[in-house]
Amino acid sequence: MTDPIKTDVLIIGAGPCGLFAVFELGLLDIKAHLVDILDKVGGQCAELYPEKPIYDIPAVPFITGHGLTEALMKQIEPFKPTFHLGEMVENIESIGEPMFRVTTDSGKMFEAKVIVVAAGGGSFQPKRPPVPGIEAYEGTSVFYSVRKMEQFRDQRLLIVGGGDSALDWTLNLAPVARRVTLMHRRDQFRAAPDSVNKMRALVAAGKMDLALGQVTMLEGEGGVLRAAHAKPDKGEPFRLECDAMLPFFGLTMKLGPVANWGLNLEEDLIPVDTAAFETNVPGIFAIGDINTYPGKLKLILSGFHEGALMAQKAYHYVYPDKRLVFQYTTSSTSLQKKLGVV
Ligand SMILES: Cc1cc2nc3c(=O)[nH]c(=O)nc-3n(C[C@H](O)[C@H](O)[C@H](O)COP(=O)(O)OP(=O)(O)OC[C@H]3O[C@@H](n4cnc5c(N)ncnc54)[C@H](O)[C@@H]3O)c2cc1C
Repeated sequence: MTDPIKTDVLIIGAGPCGLFAVFELGLLDIKAHLVDILDKVGGQCAELYPEKPIYDIPAVPFITGHGLTEALMKQIEPFKPTFHLGEMVENIESIGEPMFRVTTDSGKMFEAKVIVVAAGGGSFQPKRPPVPGIEAYEGTSVFYSVRKMEQFRDQRLLIVGGGDSALDWTLNLAPVARRVTLMHRRDQFRAAPDSVNKMRALVAAGKMDLALGQVTMLEGEGGVLRAAHAKPDKGEPFRLECDAMLPFFGLTMKLGPVANWGLNLEEDLIPVDTAAFETNVPGIFAIGDINTYPGKLKLILSGFHEGALMAQKAYHYVYPDKRLVFQYTTSSTSLQKKLGVV
């Protein structure tokens, strides 16, 4: 077993509220690691509406979900947070007063004095395609995300879907796999036109295949896939030999493991006090969409405010013997030094 990663604060969720929490903690000399299930930062802004405009970020008349994520990443750069993407926090165990041991689904372990749950609507989880018996192959031959491309070296891959994830992984895995077949129900794609053009060029060059249809059945044994059977809108059903199938049918949000962390829940939300946004467990805070309190609004600006107050209380857990002096970034040289602007 590897040694745990020690940090002042572990933030669960790298959505806008988790990201801004890094800033508020950083101003108080508190270091943070962040874990997110997604392979990118930005939470809902990055996953659900990267191109959509947001009009109610204070003093920013207009910014897209992607733009806000980029701006937050720039703002927290001075504090050098460490990101652990593509990992889901599964367990939180109390090991001190307060001190927590946190484990992810890949077995990574953290020890943190403070936990900030910024898990939004919960975990993004892949939508399972309606293929009978697909569960028997999940994790052995059917994968909803790619953690290591090497895993697929020299395999015959069937990638299913027409969005950005399906196309991006098709392009990335085509040089690694023995053969990639992209299957989509029709010859039109939601993915970025540039990716679609690149995919079509690979097909034209004979370097991969494009199949139109929907998977109806999997063939194999003991979780090992041999072939997929598919049916096109028009024409005869067909059989395609493959070693692994990667369906990319989008994501849904489910509460996920948050429910098992010993925190009080009210209709899948974590009740907090409004002085510091702390949960029923001292040292565990909840900010952003995941929390609830009288008058709560699920807005990004609410999560930013919650992060600022959370950091003030977290300071006392991280530095129990120090006094906290309130300062403005405009006038405090010490804060400006931390921001690297003086
Ligand atoms: C279409 C749309 C438009 C919107 N427009 C606006 C708007 O105009 N203005 C506005 O203020 N708000 C808007 N919102 C709401 C806004 O996006 C949310 O309030 C905001 O994203 C909440 O941020 P968050 O950081 O709390 O959570 P999220 O953005 O949901 O991020 C939470 C992150 O936590 C991760 N996570 C969850 N569980 C785990 C776990 N166990 N382990 C590891 N990671 C985990 C998730 O993968 C996710 O990335 C909109 C939302 C949608 C869907």
